[in-house]
Amino acid sequence: MKLSDLGEFGLIEKIRRATPQGTGVRLGIGDDAAWVECRKPTLLFTTDGLLEKIHFNLQWTSLKNLGWKSLAVNLSDIAAMGGEPAYFLLSLGIPVDFKVEDIDKFCLGLAEAASEYGVSLVGGNTTASERLMIHISVMGYAPHGAIKRSGGKIGDDLYATGTLGDSALGLKILKRKRKRMREIERFLASRHERPSPRVDIGKRLAKEGLATAMIDVSDGLIQDLTHLCRSSHVGAEIWSDAIPLSKAYRSFVGKRDPIYALNGGEDYELVFSVPQKRARRLDRLKRLFKTPVSRIGKFVEAKKGIRIINSKGETVTVPLSGYDHFKL
Ligand SMILES: [Mg+2]
Repeated sequence: MKLSDLGEFGLIEKIRRATPQGTGVRLGIGDDAAWVECRKPTLLFTTDGLLEKIHFNLQWTSLKNLGWKSLAVNLSDIAAMGGEPAYFLLSLGIPVDFKVEDIDKFCLGLAEAASEYGVSLVGGNTTASERLMIHISVMGYAPHGAIKRSGGKIGDDLYATGTLGDSALGLKILKRKRKRMREIERFLASRHERPSPRVDIGKRLAKEGLATAMIDVSDGLIQDLTHLCRSSHVGAEIWSDAIPLSKAYRSFVGKRDPIYALNGGEDYELVFSVPQKRARRLDRLKRLFKTPVSRIGKFVEAKKGIRIINSKGETVTVPLSGYDHFKL
């Protein structure tokens, strides 16, 4: 069956049924606006879109994983503020000849992410379009205040969650469109298709008042670090040997070359700064996290810019190629 047979109201009903209503929702999908309970005094809002042939290609991305990812990338922005996501809106533009089974797969991935992170779909919009367009807006709470990009100080240590560069390698692998993948290739592809926003870590860092500045890595470590440095009026020194690389990364690349970790986007890990005097408190906290947290460098004076230093203490030049939407 095609979307044109299902119709707009059939589509909305399908989405409503696929994503069960969570707590705090007084009125979800089906009225002129959503009505929800606000359980904390301050709110965070964010929005992000995934457009076919700009952000994803259906030739190598499954609809189910796309459903997961479109919500996950938004949750990552709430995580990067130290927040707690609560509700979201979904605006879909879908070609009329789209298969209904594919919409079901998309909804399944979306519902999996919603349930994993405890967020409720409360409304949105649907429209016909030439290509698939997915826009999501998430509303969350900042129960412990928000961690901004601008609070970093010279001398603060820099940390990263998880491992970096896996998503960029995963995309390379997916583009080959091979039916069979080795285990390490499957792992890397899944890091690209199903990122894990670090909501728990972000929230805990806010609660403990440990991080002075934070961002999530969506456009590549160097690019996102540049945003952090500009907002905090500092420079950064990154130790290339300290950049966390997964076993699959090292095995796929064949050596410990962090180039994909530095320039590859869409890892959705957190990068944050902590004053040195709070390092021991962070060490104790790290044991509670399932995801590793690695110290990768420190903030230095702004005039030094961002430098990558190798184990011999030499400065390594890295060509900047992080993602910029408006550069051709
Ligand atoms: Mg972000």
